[in-house]
Amino acid sequence: MQQKKIDPRAEFRQLEKVRIGASPSLAERFQDLKALEIDLEYFDPELLRRMGTIKYTVNLTNAKSAFSFHCPNTECVGGDFDLTDALATAVVAHQKTITGEMCCQGWLSKTMIGTKRCLHMLRYNLTLQY
Ligand SMILES: [Zn+2]
Repeated sequence: MQQKKIDPRAEFRQLEKVRIGASPSLAERFQDLKALEIDLEYFDPELLRRMGTIKYTVNLTNAKSAFSFHCPNTECVGGDFDLTDALATAVVAHQKTITGEMCCQGWLSKTMIGTKRCLHMLRYNLTLQY
């Protein structure tokens, strides 16, 4: 019987799912936070092309406080954009808006592991109410 090779991308997704699933909800972790809106823009590594935008009001009861968004690169391994720390810092300081940029630190693809980083970019804008 041939052993099934572990797909590094699928393995990472699975671990992330467990990590995020185990975190408390935003409502539980940040009891002062009453509303959160997110506005995200994704760019390819050369910033030549906007790959998509997401804008919505977060359901604080359902959303997990491990606050991570998928990288738009469908081949990316071990990346994603984790806004957990940025959000936690903002809530502690009672900031009303935060904006920033993040580069994905995953690998560009399965064949590029250890060679080339993904570097897709996220621009975020969070609006918070207390
Ligand atoms: Zn990536």
